[in-house]
Amino acid sequence: MTDSVQALPALIDASRHEIAATASIDDLEQIRVRLLGKKGSVTELLKSLGGMDPEARRTAGAKINEAKQALTAALEERRAALESAKLAAQLASDAVDVTLPGRGQAIGGLHPVTRVRRRIEQIFRNAGFTVADGPEIEDDWHNFTALNIPENHPARAMHDTFYFGDGRLLRTHTSPVQVRSMEQSKPPLRLIAPGRVYRSDSDMTHTPMFHQLEGLVVDEGITFANMKAILHGFMRELFEKDVKMRLRPSYFPFTEPSAEVDISCVSCGGSGCRVCKQTGWVEVSGCGVVHPNVLKAVNIDPERYTGYAFGMGIDRLTMLRYNVNDIRLYFENDLRFLKQFA
Ligand SMILES: [Zn+2]
Repeated sequence: MTDSVQALPALIDASRHEIAATASIDDLEQIRVRLLGKKGSVTELLKSLGGMDPEARRTAGAKINEAKQALTAALEERRAALESAKLAAQLASDAVDVTLPGRGQAIGGLHPVTRVRRRIEQIFRNAGFTVADGPEIEDDWHNFTALNIPENHPARAMHDTFYFGDGRLLRTHTSPVQVRSMEQSKPPLRLIAPGRVYRSDSDMTHTPMFHQLEGLVVDEGITFANMKAILHGFMRELFEKDVKMRLRPSYFPFTEPSAEVDISCVSCGGSGCRVCKQTGWVEVSGCGVVHPNVLKAVNIDPERYTGYAFGMGIDRLTMLRYNVNDIRLYFENDLRFLKQFA
C-alpha cells in the first residue's frame, strides 16, 4: 500500500474542514476539481492502482473509493447549504415590506374660478335670486338682436365674435340668458346666470374663453337705486371687506341709463397700488336699467315693468380676491399655481 493511500484519512479530514469553510460555490468547485477532477489527487491515486499487485490493489481501491465517496458527500452537502443560503439572501433582498407607509395621494381641490363662482351663487341665492343657465352656442337673435344690438350696430364690432359657418356663434356674453329667461317666464324675475363666454382676444387680462356672470331683475317698480343697493351689498359680501362703491355713467345697447361699477381697491384699500394703477379704484361690473326695447323684444310691457341688469367677469373677481395679476394662469393647469388654492 502506498504512502498516499495511508495518508487518505488525513486528506479527508483536512478537506472536510476546508469544504466547511468555503463561502462560495465557485470556491467549492475549485476544491472538487483539485480532489476529484480528471487530474485531482484522489483520481491520480485511482490511476496508480494499475501498477499494484491484485491483493494490494483490492485493499487500496476500497480505501480510495471510500475516500472518494466521503469527499463527494461533503462537497454535495456544502453545495446544498451554500445554494439555500444564496436563495435566502436573494429572497430577503427582493422582499417587499408591506408594512411600509404608502406614498400618499395628493388631495385635489376646486379651481379658484369655481370656488369664487360658487361663492357668488350662494351670495345671490341668499338674496332671493335663482341661478339660470343657457347654451354656449347661440344664435344671432339671443346674443345680439333681442338685446337691442341690431345688425350693423357698432357694438357688434367690439365683441370679436367666433362665428360658425351657419351663422350661429359662441356667445360673447351671458346676456342671452336674460332673453331666454324672459321668453320662458313672466315677471317677477330675479336671476343670475354664470357661465363661459368667448371672444377672440388674448393677453394678460383677456383669454378667448372666460367666465361671466349676468344678473337680471324685472318686476313692477324696480329702480336704479335697488340695483345699486344689491351690487354694493354683493361686493361687500364677496370681498369680506367694507368696500366703497361708485357708479360712472356708461353706455350699453341693452340698458338705459347704464353705468360702470367701481369699488375701492381691495388690494390697497384705496391708497393706490399696481392693481388699481394708483387710482384707488378697480372696475368690476357694468350695469343699467333694462332698455325698453329689450323688454319689448320678449313681449314684456315696458310701461308696466322695469328692471335692471348687470354683468361681471368671474375671472376678474377671482383675480382681485386672490391677488392674481395674470388671467392666463387660471387656464394653464399648472399644479404649482392651482395647489395654492386647495
Ligand atoms: Zn390699489
